[in-house]
Amino acid sequence: MRGAGKITVVAGGLPVLIAWAAGIAGLPEAQHPVTNVLAEVMAVLLVILAWRFRRGRLAVAAIVVALANFLVRGPLADSPADPGLAVLALFLPLNIAVLALLRERPLFRPLIPALIAAATLQAWLTAALGGGPDGGLGTTLFGSIGRLVAAPHLAGLIFLIAGVFVALCFAARRGAFEGSLLWVLAAAAIALLGERGPHAATLAFSAAQLVLLLGFVEDSYRLAYHDELTGLPGRRALEEALRTLDGDYAIAMVDVDQFKRFNDRHGHAAGDQALKMIATELQGVGAGGRAFRYGGEEFAVLFPSSPPAATREPLETVRTAIASRKFALRAPDRPRKKPDSPRGRAREPRLIRVTVSIGVAGPNPRRSGYEAVLRAADRALYRAKNAGRNRVVAAGDKGKK
Ligand code: GH3
Ligand code: MG
Ligand code: MG
Repeated sequence: MRGAGKITVVAGGLPVLIAWAAGIAGLPEAQHPVTNVLAEVMAVLLVILAWRFRRGRLAVAAIVVALANFLVRGPLADSPADPGLAVLALFLPLNIAVLALLRERPLFRPLIPALIAAATLQAWLTAALGGGPDGGLGTTLFGSIGRLVAAPHLAGLIFLIAGVFVALCFAARRGAFEGSLLWVLAAAAIALLGERGPHAATLAFSAAQLVLLLGFVEDSYRLAYHDELTGLPGRRALEEALRTLDGDYAIAMVDVDQFKRFNDRHGHAAGDQALKMIATELQGVGAGGRAFRYGGEEFAVLFPSSPPAATREPLETVRTAIASRKFALRAPDRPRKKPDSPRGRAREPRLIRVTVSIGVAGPNPRRSGYEAVLRAADRALYRAKNAGRNRVVAAGDKGKK
């Protein structure tokens, strides 16, 4: 999906930057009672959202951040040279990297409670290590682990590696959640490596929670407005775009030909592949056209400032491009790698084609309002089907190819 997660990655920097600047400015804690509890309040809110909207990873991320905040303000608050802090700086990026790698799942799927339990165990271990070089378990074996990971620059290096890993996961998935994890890491680095005290750390952790919320909002928007299969904006986005149409515009309705037969013959997965290919072609339509998945095997293309006559050529170009695109069927037994020597009768991937019919209409004195134009485009599409399919018909045409 193009551009998904962009808002979180760009705008998420703002709260983190503000928290960082406020930490540097050294704002006195007493003047900011709200920020003292913001991270906790945000964590509760995020866990509720994660539970309600089946976002298990979000709950783990919120809890990991809240536990880190608790440790920095509580058990590890007194000494900046605490070995516990170094261990926390090791655990936190590891947890975030694991979350970036995982696929989304609901809160009560076994792995999510297991991750929450692991994070709590880590927090306990970190607190046990804490209490300064002479306190807690600081002088025991655990303390040596703490001192080991406290080696200069090691924590920074771990954050950097985790950051690169999370960035790769974001590039592969383009999810806002993965984007928000990048800022969680940055905020945690400010909190744990900045050495500006517990209050500055709390500000940074609160910023991390805010970015998690931002990522959740962006992901939810994408779910509501975008079609997962084709990556095109969906029906809801279309309804909104239709209401903004004005002046000389055109609406094209696109329907895949004999698609039921296509699915029956080649399978549903091949059908999905065909829909993706058609969506890609439609996205490249000229004359300022914007493609939407209307539903099922139907698409709509809006031309906000082109009359139907001006859309004829770009629509014909797309139609012929789709009709001439042979695409290979990804059969389950098709080898991913080409074999070195053909064994027996090599199975060539089957090349198949698909065609679409298009109906296009624009407003006129008898037909104003997008509902009427949409109905006219639908009627033109129906005529394109009746005239033999694989053609573009404009409202008022006779259905010629
Ligand atoms: P026509 O040329 O008249 O449009 O015939 P058609 O077979 O395309 O039309 P019909 O409405 O009978 O069938 C539409 C088919 O589209 C049936 C349904 O299985 C298939 N379809 C709808 N959505 C999807 C989808 O997301 N994936 C796949 N693979 N098939 C889908
Ligand atoms: Mg149809
Ligand atoms: Mg069809």
